[in-house]
Amino acid sequence: MGGTPELKLYNTLTREKSVFKPIDAENVRMYVCGPTVYDFAHIGNARPVIVFDVLFRLLRHVYGESHVTYARNITDVDDKINARALRDYPGLPLNAAIRAVTEKTEKQFLDDATALGSLEPTVQPRATDNINQMIEIIERLIARGHAYQASGEVLFDTKSMADYGQLSKRNLDEQQAGARIAVDAHKRSPGDFVLWKLSDENEPGWESPWGRGRPGWHIECSAMSGRYLGDVFDIHGGGLDLIFPHHENEIAQSRCAHGTDVMANVWMHNGFLQVEGRKMSKSEGNFVTIYELLHTEKFASRQWPGEVLRLAMLMTHYREPIDFSVKRLEEAERLLAKWPAVEPGDAKPDETVLNALADDLNTVAAVQALHALAQSGDPSVFAASAALLGLLPKKTEIDEAVAKEIDAWVEARLELLKAKNFAEADKIRDTLAAEGIQLKDGKDLATGERVTTWEVKR
Ligand SMILES: [Zn+2]
Repeated sequence: MGGTPELKLYNTLTREKSVFKPIDAENVRMYVCGPTVYDFAHIGNARPVIVFDVLFRLLRHVYGESHVTYARNITDVDDKINARALRDYPGLPLNAAIRAVTEKTEKQFLDDATALGSLEPTVQPRATDNINQMIEIIERLIARGHAYQASGEVLFDTKSMADYGQLSKRNLDEQQAGARIAVDAHKRSPGDFVLWKLSDENEPGWESPWGRGRPGWHIECSAMSGRYLGDVFDIHGGGLDLIFPHHENEIAQSRCAHGTDVMANVWMHNGFLQVEGRKMSKSEGNFVTIYELLHTEKFASRQWPGEVLRLAMLMTHYREPIDFSVKRLEEAERLLAKWPAVEPGDAKPDETVLNALADDLNTVAAVQALHALAQSGDPSVFAASAALLGLLPKKTEIDEAVAKEIDAWVEARLELLKAKNFAEADKIRDTLAAEGIQLKDGKDLATGERVTTWEVKR
């Protein structure tokens, strides 16, 4: 670890930034909640993929590549998956239809993650391969008095855990007093959640001591993290929206089943994502998938390289909310165009970049330092530093002065287009094309204004 700064991470459990001390420096263990595979992943789903990939890269740098275990699950059992299977494959038997949906979606997710420059996690367990582990934990919870059977379900008894709610700082009694919705009659307390529920013949199911059924959502992460990382491990990550109830309930299950004080020592959560200043939703018309950004012209009438999406994401600190916009993407693209494309070789990453990342993944400062290095640093040190962020600029022969000049021509052409002087505008486009510079016209989703970007074609 010589020469590497202390790693500091913000812990949602303590609401503090503190020095990270692994349980075992020979095997640093991290779990991140993965996708439910029934549909294309949207750009909000890309954020944890990228953020925790940067952390994975940093941990590998600090502790050694073979000393970090990163597990990210695939949720392939869920009522949304059943519904999608019935809709898309009505002719197939249910199990085959479900497999068709989950295999296709999982492959798409992994393709997206790779295009975004992310390394494959060490293990990517599927929920349906871990049903026995889930049944074991549920049996242990029942035996220890933390779970009960009622109306075809096995439920976790939240009242049985004295300090339930530590992560989200929620108080069960307050919740009950404030609850306006009638409590399901079969639950002992309104916060009690499903560990197992019986399936009918139209639902997927597995044999269990409680009859043929399927697991609740939360139990799978307790089972898979326990199997691959142990009863207590170092870091658990995910989006802010998972703190409650998902992560709270993971903690309840794992701690009560294993009799431990914590499930993971550090809990990390990335912030929300908006698109063009508004919450992303299908009804707002600003819902966009990673696939659409990469491969279609849905967003601002053009395709966006994975590296641009990645850098745009890292230009905001992971705990801050992010506004995903055309402007932001263009800014990232301009930066990347000015960065040299070189192989890192044996070079070590720059200290300023490393220090920034070691300070609770301050990717904003790291990107700034990287940009300074690109201007005046050793190119191979730049490349080694960029690789820590998963950014490996592709070769372009454009230097900054030329890039500025091209920007100016693009601006001039936009003015001409506004003035409807199409002949002159086309001349600029053709002149640039002759130099191997291709313009792409698009539209700013927020303002409706025309925007133009350029790239070098070889
Ligand atoms: Zn989870």
